[in-house]
Amino acid sequence: MSAKPIYVTQPHLPPLEEFIPYLEQIWDNKRLTNSGPFHNQLEQALAEYLGVEHLALFANGTLALLTALQALRITGEVITTPYSFVATAHTLLWNEIQPVFVDIDPHTLNLDPNRIEAAITPRTTAILPVHVYGNPCDVEAIQTIADNYNLKVIYDAAHAFGVQDQGGSILRHGDLSVLSFHATKVFNTCEGGAIACPDDKTKQHIDHLKNFGFVGETTVVASGINGKMNEMQSALGLLQLKHVSQALARRHAIDDQYREGLSHIPGIRLLPRGSQVVDNHAYFPIVVEDTYPLSRDQLYDKLKAADIHGRRYFYPLISEFPMYRGLPSVQAADLAVATEISRRIICLPIFPALSDDDLNRIIQLLTP
Ligand SMILES: *Cc1c(COP(=O)(O)O)cnc(C)c1O
Repeated sequence: MSAKPIYVTQPHLPPLEEFIPYLEQIWDNKRLTNSGPFHNQLEQALAEYLGVEHLALFANGTLALLTALQALRITGEVITTPYSFVATAHTLLWNEIQPVFVDIDPHTLNLDPNRIEAAITPRTTAILPVHVYGNPCDVEAIQTIADNYNLKVIYDAAHAFGVQDQGGSILRHGDLSVLSFHATKVFNTCEGGAIACPDDKTKQHIDHLKNFGFVGETTVVASGINGKMNEMQSALGLLQLKHVSQALARRHAIDDQYREGLSHIPGIRLLPRGSQVVDNHAYFPIVVEDTYPLSRDQLYDKLKAADIHGRRYFYPLISEFPMYRGLPSVQAADLAVATEISRRIICLPIFPALSDDDLNRIIQLLTP
């Protein structure tokens, strides 16, 4: 039996001794930030690894989201999902944009494209969907609506590092996609993030915006922000990249073992694998149905008593937080699927260092 508490995730860290040479290089060349050598190396290496044309690195995913909205000059109303991490909608409020929440699809748990059109008004300028748990949104249906109504599409791809569909990287869809490299994510740089963008001109604009709007030494072209990723983060990213395929393989094995151990338990519903051809196994969500002997919260507490800390992710819905409650789109009746799922969801621990013993213990605890 393991004595240590197990959390829903444990940040993946490569061996410390492998990081030392990177730090020595930083100390030697005295470049700490502002588009330093590690920053530029990581930007290129990640674009290649992920299979995207251009990538702009950021200090974190939230600054990347804020900047993506600024880069496309999004205003008015934006259609988004209540079933996400609060940062998704918070970045709209920070840009003085009104979030319009639309319900999710019961199978993918992503924004339901069939409900988007009814939420469009003359003030709508964009759609901000999330690839929840790394499962791809219905990107084609969303793009068709965006084209018909002349809307921009920004994907919150914070969960979707490395995910591919039939045609390649999931990040190629929409106008922009935003990644997070936060400690809890599949690929981490401590804190970090990026915007994937299709063309060189947009990439340049984003690079200006993340550095206060500076172009050259004395010209400022926009009211930009400080969104830059520093050299320590970038160096960690370069090292993480060397270990990422191993980490993903371990996640895959854990996912397989959970599916094998849990799929026959009445009242525990697993999300089917999505439409992706390359998955990242970022999360392992289960839906606790009425036929399970315990309620979701009773099960959550039972795990917690055994020092296994699942996470009710996403609960509450974003639309239930006080700063959103006054909006017209937050009525639970209009968000019935998201409301139901958020009351039944638990994400189980999944991270490369999770041992088979601990995994089996978690499966045992879930087995009535
Ligand atoms: C983690 C996360 C973010 C925020 O990213 P940070 O890097 O933590 O700022 C945004 N959206 C979703 C869906 C996330 O999971």
